[in-house]
Amino acid sequence: MLAFAEARDFVIARARPISGGETVGVEHAHGRVLAEPVAATIDVPGHDNSAMDGYAVRTADTRADGETRLRVVQRIPAGRVGHALGAGEAARIFTGAPLPPGADAVVIQEDCVRDGDDVRFSVPVAVGENVRPRGNDIRAGTEVLAVGTRLRPQALGLAASVGVARLRVARRLRVGLFSTGDELVAPGEPLPPGAIYNSNRYILHGLLAGLGCELTDLGTVVDRADATREALADAAARCDVVVTTGGMSVGEEDHLKAAVEALGSLEMWNVAVKPGKPVAYGRIGDADFIGLPGNPVSALVTFCLFVRPFLLRRQGVASVLPTPVAVAADFHWPRPGGRREFVRARLEPRAEGPAVVTIYPNQSSDVLTSTVWADGLVEIPERTVVAPGDVVSYYPFAELLG
Ligand code: AMP
Ligand code: MG
Repeated sequence: MLAFAEARDFVIARARPISGGETVGVEHAHGRVLAEPVAATIDVPGHDNSAMDGYAVRTADTRADGETRLRVVQRIPAGRVGHALGAGEAARIFTGAPLPPGADAVVIQEDCVRDGDDVRFSVPVAVGENVRPRGNDIRAGTEVLAVGTRLRPQALGLAASVGVARLRVARRLRVGLFSTGDELVAPGEPLPPGAIYNSNRYILHGLLAGLGCELTDLGTVVDRADATREALADAAARCDVVVTTGGMSVGEEDHLKAAVEALGSLEMWNVAVKPGKPVAYGRIGDADFIGLPGNPVSALVTFCLFVRPFLLRRQGVASVLPTPVAVAADFHWPRPGGRREFVRARLEPRAEGPAVVTIYPNQSSDVLTSTVWADGLVEIPERTVVAPGDVVSYYPFAELLG
């Protein structure tokens, strides 16, 4: 059996970044991966401007002790440009408005008294106070977004802030998906004796949509060698990556392993991870094959651990591994295991001190309830026991599912 960390590295190393991209409007780029860098051609902000509503002044005119009185000669709302400030003059100014030439500070309105045409205040004023200098955020010429950035909302805002309306992004990955199992019935259909509803299909739809993939769903494939081979060949011809669930073990009803070996090559199989031992990687022609276990919890967890980083790297993302959060355990894990385990867990806030992490009592890989109860996974290394208070690595679903 291959150790977990080795297996994950092996899979990620096989992720060839896709060639080809497309140009999309910034408003359509959320979640996509940047294929060309974004550089600023302007300073942001483009002018020294006021950070507050108040009065723009020349500090040379103000008094460090005692009252300053200045004549208010202009009014500058955001979006307008003022004119030069003379000696003894102030400008009424609002947040975001450019400072008029000559002004070098803003006195906030709460410190000022308006007195006819004058403004009075008794606070000392330092050069640059309440002023956001030109280029405070971005200098013209700097790269603001690097190739391989997954575009979160704040990145879209940053691109827009330098005036960029369209972005070059990696094309969507085409992922083919099918479930295997004679027992599977689609929800909405009657359930014959011995049958179960296909839940993996919907888990994977959500997971693949979250990664911006273009999904080709080939439905459910019966447990027969010829049908399995046909579905695999079809998916591999049409897609960049084929993802399957179930049928990956070595029972008589499991046909995927043989089908991959017949059509291409199986490069990884039998990983020491729990849940999810029969997770597999292979190649069929130019397509990648990833076989996930049939048990729904195992399918979800192995997707998070192997498929997510693989698909991200395939789209050109540099940093694909989730960051563990160190949290104190509020559970016992008394029996050390030979495989690395990822258990369904939840952060519990404490009235005092940092949150602790608890785990769902039934960690069986068919118990999908555990995954809805949980807000993340706790990693338990091989041959390890855990007692309350021990520090464990926790991975929030917020990161693993997106
Ligand atoms: P397998 O890996 O095909 O032996 O399946 C392992 C377990 O997962 C069996 O109990 C299957 O019935 C179940 N299973 C397989 N595929 C699915 C699916 N798409 N949805 C729900 N359960 C499944
Ligand atoms: Mg099966």
